[in-house]
Amino acid sequence: MICLALTGKTIDENIEIISKYKKYIDLVELRADFLHPEEREKVSLLPGMIDKPAILTYRLPKDGGFFTEDESLRLELLSQGLEGGFEYVDLEEDLEAPELELQATEKGTTIIRSFHDFDKVPEDLIQRIQSMPRSDKEIPKAAVMPTSSADFHTLLTIFKALKGTKKILLGMGAYGFPTRILSNPLGSYLTYCSPENASAAPGHVDPVTLNELYRFKNITKGTAIYGIIGNPVMHTKSPVIHNKGFAGINLDAVYLPFQVDSIEDFMKSAEILNIQGLSVTIPHKVDIIPLLEKPLDKGVEAIGSCNTLIKSASSWKGVNTDAPGFMWPLYKTFSPEQLGSKKAAVIGAGGAARAIIFALQEAGMEVLVLNRTASKAKELAEYFNCAWAGLDDDGIAKLSDYNDIIVQTTSVGMHPMEDKNPIAGYEFTGSEIAYDIIYVPEETVFLKKAKEAGCPIFGGKVMLLAQGWDQFRLFTGKAHPQEGVV
Ligand code: NAP
Repeated sequence: MICLALTGKTIDENIEIISKYKKYIDLVELRADFLHPEEREKVSLLPGMIDKPAILTYRLPKDGGFFTEDESLRLELLSQGLEGGFEYVDLEEDLEAPELELQATEKGTTIIRSFHDFDKVPEDLIQRIQSMPRSDKEIPKAAVMPTSSADFHTLLTIFKALKGTKKILLGMGAYGFPTRILSNPLGSYLTYCSPENASAAPGHVDPVTLNELYRFKNITKGTAIYGIIGNPVMHTKSPVIHNKGFAGINLDAVYLPFQVDSIEDFMKSAEILNIQGLSVTIPHKVDIIPLLEKPLDKGVEAIGSCNTLIKSASSWKGVNTDAPGFMWPLYKTFSPEQLGSKKAAVIGAGGAARAIIFALQEAGMEVLVLNRTASKAKELAEYFNCAWAGLDDDGIAKLSDYNDIIVQTTSVGMHPMEDKNPIAGYEFTGSEIAYDIIYVPEETVFLKKAKEAGCPIFGGKVMLLAQGWDQFRLFTGKAHPQEGVV
């Protein structure tokens, strides 16, 4: 079930929130600690004004709430609210309020017995959840904070150990996020979400994202799980690419962001969740290689980094789709013969540059690599047997010999350097093909300069989509429904 936390300052505002999200939610939690004090007397009216079951909660600061007044007032307000006939009331694990419990029982209100840990996954979590309910009617709830891949794995083992126990269990924050989306197959009674831009707790998504992006209601134990591992990872657009693709081909699958600080720890979770395929992003593209099935894929071996994992019988097959993704827009515009005769310069010598040098050489081009840290350019040039220079006057002078295609792969041009151009000293002639792999902003200063000179330009968004389409094909054996649509 999906429970929407109502974070409005007035009851009317909350009614509006409910009507906005009505078709996406199963029940609501009135977070009465968000209300203006003068609104409290209307709390008991809420259940009669809506056609969804409701939880009544006055959350304290120690549990992530905003109720800072006297505890006796909180109990009085809870009691007044219960008179309205709430289906559920949230009472904390350490609360001693027998009269309130009696009132709830008489009113037919189910008690959710809760505790929150914003720092960790407590070692005694299983025992705590088992011992929290004070009657077999109460539902225990624990919201805990995994802060590592090891914690995420621990949390999954706790879900497993508590299989069959009626409970609400969820991991907060980036590491815990997947537990919010997978609450149904993991066996949590409900998941919480918040209105857009009004999050009630770390990791809440809004009901539309939960339903339309993650297709929450369709996720069962049989749903195939895919995802992206990275650190940080929550900003990535890959869930949009893949989940839309799954929906488009009607596949029972979901794609999630997994915050990962230790690949080894995460792979134990991947086993538990029976993950079928993964995208890999910074900083794990190189460290993942020792875990891959041998022999290595040719691209992964040559590039020295891997961005796609596909589950095989006993291990993980690694593939690099950054290289074909990078070439996709070029091959859409130019023939292999046209490209093969060109000379290319790559600005930057980071992870992305490796895949791009490989791709350009595979297409038959001669390559020059220029980098701020000249030693890294040299290292890469020795590995790929190409020309190199520092990103200085000498390098800019050399660029004129390799300027059929200039590929910008540094982070210069994206936030917080959106007004910078890493080759500011270079004058475009108009004959260069200019390609910047940055995707936000879509047109960097580098591309603007090239465009002004009349050069054909390519931005990073298409590369991002194209590497995702290739991954989708590897994951599902089918074309992404938007493949080629840019
Ligand atoms: P990376 O491994 O961290 O490499 C960063 C590169 O940027 C290095 O060459 C670094 O030079 C250079 N750099 C950073 N700050 C600089 C500055 N102030 N002046 C000059 N050079 C500077 O990163 P990456 O994985 O290669 O990614 C680089 C960019 O590509 C990012 O913007 C990323 O978003 C984008 N990207 C796009 C796609 C796509 O699908 N479109 C895919 C992958 C990456 P030093 O060696 O001197 O530090």
